[in-house]
Amino acid sequence: MTRITTDLADEYETMFTLTPGKMRAIVEGFKDALELGLEKPHQTVAMIPTYIPGWPTGKETGDFLAVDLGGTNLRVCLVTLLGHGKFDIAQAKYRLSEEQKHDDGQKLFDFCADCLKNFIDQNLEIEEGTEVPLGFTFSYPCAQDRIDQGVLLHWTKGFGAPNTEGRDVAAMFRHSLAKHVRPASPSQLFSADFFAAQGLPVKLAAIVNDTAGTLIASHYVDPRARIAVIFGTGCNAAYMERMADIPKMRSAGMADDAEMAINCEWGAFDSFENRYLPRTKYDLTIDKACNKPGEQIFEKLISGLYLGEIFRIVLCELKDDGLLFENQDPDKLQVPYAFETAFLSLMESDQTDELLMSIGIFSHFFSLQTTLAERRFFRTLARLICRRAARLGACGIAAIVSKMGYLDEECVVVVDGSLYNLCTGFSDHLHEGLEDIFGDKGRNIKTYHAQDGSGVGSAIIAAMTTQQKNSPAG
Ligand code: BGC
Ligand code: MG
Repeated sequence: MTRITTDLADEYETMFTLTPGKMRAIVEGFKDALELGLEKPHQTVAMIPTYIPGWPTGKETGDFLAVDLGGTNLRVCLVTLLGHGKFDIAQAKYRLSEEQKHDDGQKLFDFCADCLKNFIDQNLEIEEGTEVPLGFTFSYPCAQDRIDQGVLLHWTKGFGAPNTEGRDVAAMFRHSLAKHVRPASPSQLFSADFFAAQGLPVKLAAIVNDTAGTLIASHYVDPRARIAVIFGTGCNAAYMERMADIPKMRSAGMADDAEMAINCEWGAFDSFENRYLPRTKYDLTIDKACNKPGEQIFEKLISGLYLGEIFRIVLCELKDDGLLFENQDPDKLQVPYAFETAFLSLMESDQTDELLMSIGIFSHFFSLQTTLAERRFFRTLARLICRRAARLGACGIAAIVSKMGYLDEECVVVVDGSLYNLCTGFSDHLHEGLEDIFGDKGRNIKTYHAQDGSGVGSAIIAAMTTQQKNSPAG
């Protein structure tokens, strides 16, 4: 017996669809939030000045290290900048465990330092007495008043490591780096240098958000890049702003025609106010149950951490209502976050008549048998959830583009993150959304995949800060 009807699919279609009118209203609200964040400190959309002084010249050269602490992995990269917008990269990835995300913060930085040491030992010979500049990509909202320092405002993406919020993560990381003992050379053994030579032979030169890193890395390769967006475990954007248009920085005494990259932290848009974003009861359930209720409301509708969970909660409700999985035990599906966002994209792109991909996912991971009608409904629902995310992302991009007056000519937006890269249809939905907002002019906005931006960008920024200043950084 089939209980799933087309009416039900229609109901969800209505619930998860954003009309062009609604999108334009969101864009207007979004623009106001961006302006407000530039005007005053401590706003919902924080618009954080990154202290990245303008665009790279493309002439930055040399070896730089980057540590990239993302939502899922830790990466260590050795980036060799060759000039002329070219670079080489060698990297290693380390998986973060759920425990590490909630264990004491200092231990997390100790782990970063251990991985870095391990990587250096295997990949790099550092000349005695020298230090390699290091960029630290830390993809969480950090308030900065210089490039090599950053106070964590709050964890996002499910992290919750205690003793970290409100503290300078650069100082915490330096503390971990200093714990490593460098092998002393024979000449140092009996000298004062012996003690000076403690710690890894690196100089932490910059704390960089992944969006800002992606912006700078993309621009190094292709100077048309103007805005960088991450659609991954989290969601956020960065762009280059004129100092004259950052009223809250007036006292910093920088020239009006200078520029600075802004980390928008747009994932927080509409948090606390709840004025613009249409939220379903499923979104409210996720928000209530997570470790940071009320925060990152825009991100919770969009990013990879949450989309699979939205899908799972809908299915659990339908099962409770007796509409799915008749006479089967759904216990594996009842585990929070058990349904990966990657499954949505696999289901959405399934071209087989029987929807074999869904058969496989449900039987293999959840021990559930499905009917064809159920699987068709799942495909529709997966598509609706991804489409809503992409269209909301389009609203954020539209707000920056329109605020900056970038719509009249080609505007290049570089994008990274698993959703954009792996989710079939995400980019089509995004561009459809931009056209719904701007009409034909929406086609002036081009998006490109930015590869490795967050690590390479951090290395370039370390180069910009150490090579521009003649005095030692720090
Ligand atoms: C963080 C941002 C980050 C984004 C993408 C969000 O949760 O707040 O700092 O850029 O995720 O990684
Ligand atoms: Mg990342």
